Amino acid sequence: MAERYDVILVGAGPAGIFAALELANTGLKTLLLEKGPDLSARPRPGELQRSTPTDPRLRWQITGFGGAGAYSDGKLTLSTDVGGRLDTILGAESLRGLLRYVDDVYMRYGGTDRVYGLSAEVEEMRREAARAGLRLVPAPIKHLGTDRSFYILEAIREELGRTVEIRTGVAAEQLQLRDGRVVGVRTSTGEDLAAEYVVVAPGREGSQWLLDEARRLGLDIAQSPVDIGVRVEVPAPVLDKITSVVYESKLELYTRVFDDRIRTFCMCPGGEVTMEHTGGEDAVITVNGHSYAERKTDNTNFALLISTTFTEPFREPNAYGRYVARLANLLGGGVIVQRLGDLLAGRRSTPERLHRGLVTPTLRSAAPGDLSFVLPYRYLSDILEMLQAMDRLAPGIYERHTLLYGVEVKFYSVRLRVSPQLETDISNLFAAGDGAGVTRGLVQASASGVVAAREIIRRAGAGSS
Ligand SMILES: Cc1cc2nc3c(=O)[nH]c(=O)nc-3n(C[C@H](O)[C@H](O)[C@H](O)COP(=O)(O)OP(=O)(O)OC[C@H]3O[C@@H](n4cnc5c(N)ncnc54)[C@H](O)[C@@H]3O)c2cc1C
Repeated sequence: MAERYDVILVGAGPAGIFAALELANTGLKTLLLEKGPDLSARPRPGELQRSTPTDPRLRWQITGFGGAGAYSDGKLTLSTDVGGRLDTILGAESLRGLLRYVDDVYMRYGGTDRVYGLSAEVEEMRREAARAGLRLVPAPIKHLGTDRSFYILEAIREELGRTVEIRTGVAAEQLQLRDGRVVGVRTSTGEDLAAEYVVVAPGREGSQWLLDEARRLGLDIAQSPVDIGVRVEVPAPVLDKITSVVYESKLELYTRVFDDRIRTFCMCPGGEVTMEHTGGEDAVITVNGHSYAERKTDNTNFALLISTTFTEPFREPNAYGRYVARLANLLGGGVIVQRLGDLLAGRRSTPERLHRGLVTPTLRSAAPGDLSFVLPYRYLSDILEMLQAMDRLAPGIYERHTLLYGVEVKFYSVRLRVSPQLETDISNLFAAGDGAGVTRGLVQASASGVVAAREIIRRAGAGSS
């Protein structure tokens, strides 16, 4: 006979974990199902920085208890405008309350008081950005750092271990329905687990699985753009003026040539560039960045991402992103790094040229190469325009020593239709976090887990026991 639960949560990233924290002590029998390893079996923060692209442990980078959040930079963006589309689903006012609540929970497990982006200097910076043709999106931000984020997760893991059943190394393989209602989950170990409610929160790692399941179940899926670009690395002093005020500057430009939207993303002052391994068996290596609370490098890195919506009848933005990433992997064995000066001079970077440069790459395994073999002209043109505009705000960015790593891709393409309670068109099946296209960052992902769990608690008539 199938084991019975009140609630099954699929995925132990921030969305699944925050749902589990809400459900703990309510009397509801809850299972948190995670396909990757438990937190204690994942590498410690920083352990993978010296890895090569073939290191098998890279597989656990965004999968396992903690999800992609385990090695995230821990920037908590406390704005309703950034990090997902919960503002349009719930309304800005409800979201504001939730952001405060999520921040309080992080504080309970070891968060930080310091908030960037609120001082009077932000307004002056916004004006300066406008003079350079850029839009600065102000957002209050707290920075936990990769090290502190991991300790926070350890504290949460310990507490949840006492209140919720957690199974790691087991994937949800199939969602089971009866009469238009979810009734359980079939696992990768062949077990049928019955549940009154299921919350799917599989993150980027599980976005393809969710897309396949959504298609199989006939759920409505909207296409969303794929974000493709590079990670830029400069000496930290070049961006000090900005990062000391806003920590991360969210800058946007609509480019002259293609009228594309290009934006900065995930700025990491004093941080490191990292590899990201996405897609399980059929994985591609992309690039990302993070930083520590305690230890700083001499460099600052950030992503430049271009959002492109493709023409009909194309409906596979994820596949397109993977194709471009795979090209970089084919030519560089993983991530490619190139000096801006070499790109502009139409030549590849070499180890000798990099060595002569002013910026020492923090991702040592990146192969010196030529990004013009990887990125279409449209993307390169957008990136160069953006760097020129940013140089007016922070002189030193459009410099020949600036490093460009490729490629950075954000896979978000599944966007399920959900109610304000995050229920899908299937009764009692809820969708939360990045994998369902609901969110794009730690705070909103965590908040989405809270929303789904609270609705389940309300319907089940449960409360704190
Ligand atoms: C290097 C890096 C730095 C980042 N820095 C920041 C930052 O500073 N600020 C910020 O806001 N965001 C940051 N992010 C993004 C942030 O980590 C994500 O937005 C967030 O983790 C999304 O949470 P989630 O719960 O939706 O999904 P995830 O954290 O991706 O977790 C999903 C989990 O579901 C599991 N799963 C998938 N499929 C299945 C299945 N079929 N069965 C069972 N389990 C499954 C996965 O293994 C994974 O553990 C960063 C990400 C990376 C990789």
